[in-house]
Amino acid sequence: MLKVLFAILSLTVVFLTDAGADELYRFLDNASITLEGNAQTTKLWTADEKQKVEKYFETLRTIAPELVLLASHENALGPIKIVRVDVAKRSIGFAKRDTSTGETYLILTDMFFKAYDVTHESVGYDGGNYSLWFFVHEMVHLAEFRSLPEKDTTAPTLNPDHVLYLTFETRISKAQYKLYQQKINLDTYKLSTDRVNVDIVHDLGLPTKYSLFSTQEALAETVSATILSPAYQAPPDILQAIDDFYRSAGS
Ligand SMILES: [Zn+2]
Repeated sequence: MLKVLFAILSLTVVFLTDAGADELYRFLDNASITLEGNAQTTKLWTADEKQKVEKYFETLRTIAPELVLLASHENALGPIKIVRVDVAKRSIGFAKRDTSTGETYLILTDMFFKAYDVTHESVGYDGGNYSLWFFVHEMVHLAEFRSLPEKDTTAPTLNPDHVLYLTFETRISKAQYKLYQQKINLDTYKLSTDRVNVDIVHDLGLPTKYSLFSTQEALAETVSATILSPAYQAPPDILQAIDDFYRSAGS
């Protein structure tokens, strides 16, 4: 299913990349954005930092062209705007959708460039390079944001009537119940990066503990694992839900 779709979309992406690869995304210097309620001006990009991001886009075009296509949304919303900040929420970065303008940003912090070129231990499978995993994960968020026709449209993973929401919410609830039964703290568990009790999520077809954070995170983690972890096999209903979403978002 997913593999068939990947093949179909990879034919389309050839035209996209040839037509305007450098306008798929754009590095913004000194952009004014609001983060965590604070207006701020973003940093200047260095050549090395740009090179790392460009390399990751090239990698993604090879291993997951359909994801790049969806995240770009055929440039209908303009290039993906990529900005550089010092730190944010102790995070290596995130994808953000401005709810008033509908504008989307990929925000990358110091940690993305300095701290995470290491093996992604927390996956429980071979997750490869952590910063690449992160990059794929944020592309999934961007793909979802940028698939929304209107700025006030509810994302599929947040829409209680959408199959994508139901597919993940059911599993998250089951995992929460198991953790409760085993007296394991949910907040500690979903943020932990070790492999202790990782079978609780794996048994439900979720790749990582972080997938329990929300239905949005479950989608991002599942797609990242499908692309980057050969040992991870998503259950058929998850694959179908993702495939349906990508098909409708890409049409
Ligand atoms: Zn996320």
